[in-house]
Amino acid sequence: MQKETIAIHAGYDKKEGYGSMSVPIAQTTAYAFRDSEHAANLFALKELGPIYSRLTNPTSDVLEQRFAALEGGAAAISTASGQAAIFYAITNVAEAGDNIIISDKLYGGAVTLLTHTIKRFGIEARVFKSKDASNLEEQIDDKTKAIFFESLSNPQIAITDIEKVVEIAKRHGVLTVCDNTVATPALFNPIEWGVDVVVHSTSKYVNGQGTAIGGMVVERDNLAEFFKQNDKRYYHFTTPDESYHGLVYTDVPLPNFCLRIRLALLRDIGATQSPHNSWLLIQTLETLGLRVEKHSDNALEVAKYLESHPKVKAVNYPGLKSNEHYEKAQKYFKNGKASGLISFEAESFEEARKIIDSTKLFSVVVNIGDSKSLITHPASTTHSQMSEQELIEAGINPATVRLSIGLENTADLIEDLEQAISK
Ligand SMILES: *Cc1c(COP(=O)(O)O)cnc(C)c1O
Repeated sequence: MQKETIAIHAGYDKKEGYGSMSVPIAQTTAYAFRDSEHAANLFALKELGPIYSRLTNPTSDVLEQRFAALEGGAAAISTASGQAAIFYAITNVAEAGDNIIISDKLYGGAVTLLTHTIKRFGIEARVFKSKDASNLEEQIDDKTKAIFFESLSNPQIAITDIEKVVEIAKRHGVLTVCDNTVATPALFNPIEWGVDVVVHSTSKYVNGQGTAIGGMVVERDNLAEFFKQNDKRYYHFTTPDESYHGLVYTDVPLPNFCLRIRLALLRDIGATQSPHNSWLLIQTLETLGLRVEKHSDNALEVAKYLESHPKVKAVNYPGLKSNEHYEKAQKYFKNGKASGLISFEAESFEEARKIIDSTKLFSVVVNIGDSKSLITHPASTTHSQMSEQELIEAGINPATVRLSIGLENTADLIEDLEQAISK
């Protein structure tokens, strides 16, 4: 099946839902077992089925199957937020004494999570240059458990040299984790390029209307084989899990990565997606492809306008031929489309704030991927926890204005920006 069809049909059998055309919401905490044997079988994984909604839910299950199919993965697991998805993906492989290698171009929340919070658990984050991965290989050692990067980064709108990262990781038997939130499966499938695990914040383009927070982890086919081949590094998967009566994950014929998140991390930490949010995301996923193409087309038009403006010092949009990531956008993304994210540099910090305060159609919101156009100032908001040095390293200039271009008519958006910039 093609993506447009998957997004609408995969994972749901109408017969199991009383013929309901809309996927029903299983708004329930727990599930009745047929008898004590059934209950015992479910807990022992001899039979699969719902037990308690912290672990699985039929509505979330449909969304997960759809997502796995859209990403070309073997399985997916939904989480309460994108942050939870990243936390689970990393702590599923890394523990105290280990290290991970993360891209220098990441979402602010991922930076604080991976360099500060996870550090308190004894996991060290080393940083590599996502642009060309030139200092990646030298940082890998026996304790390196994952290489984490964003395909199209938020808010820098930079594209990682994915092919090179994957090639190095494969040579060393290290797991790659790609955050594909901004590109979305509509434009890019990391697994097709050899990535092992994909994470998402579904709060952004997948939701598309700013109505639900959610996250997703997707794994490629046959990770069990990878864990067996690299069993020193990934011994958690090949040796008994004492917390789950001695289960050896690689012995189970189910996609191992999501299985371990579900049985251990989701069980113990519980950042589970609510069935209602899964249902909302099922609705919005149906139109993801159409929306992301339109967001991208609108953004290209606005970016061209900004590029021609004398009061705009620089425009960063990978759909522009002048952009340093243009070739990568053409190489990796469907028809070279590059999402609705644009950033541009105003003449000064004060000018940036004036523009933000003068727009009328754009809402001042720290979100992206909404049908409504959004405008923010990363240096004073999303990235305010970062030091000046960290800001510079992440490519965030104090005069940078970030736009998330929505689905309005571009003539109206350009008119609004024009009055705000020339004020
Ligand atoms: C928003 C975002 C996240 C965090 O997701 P939440 O759903 O807000 O927790 C992670 N990665 C990227 C690239 C994001 O844009």
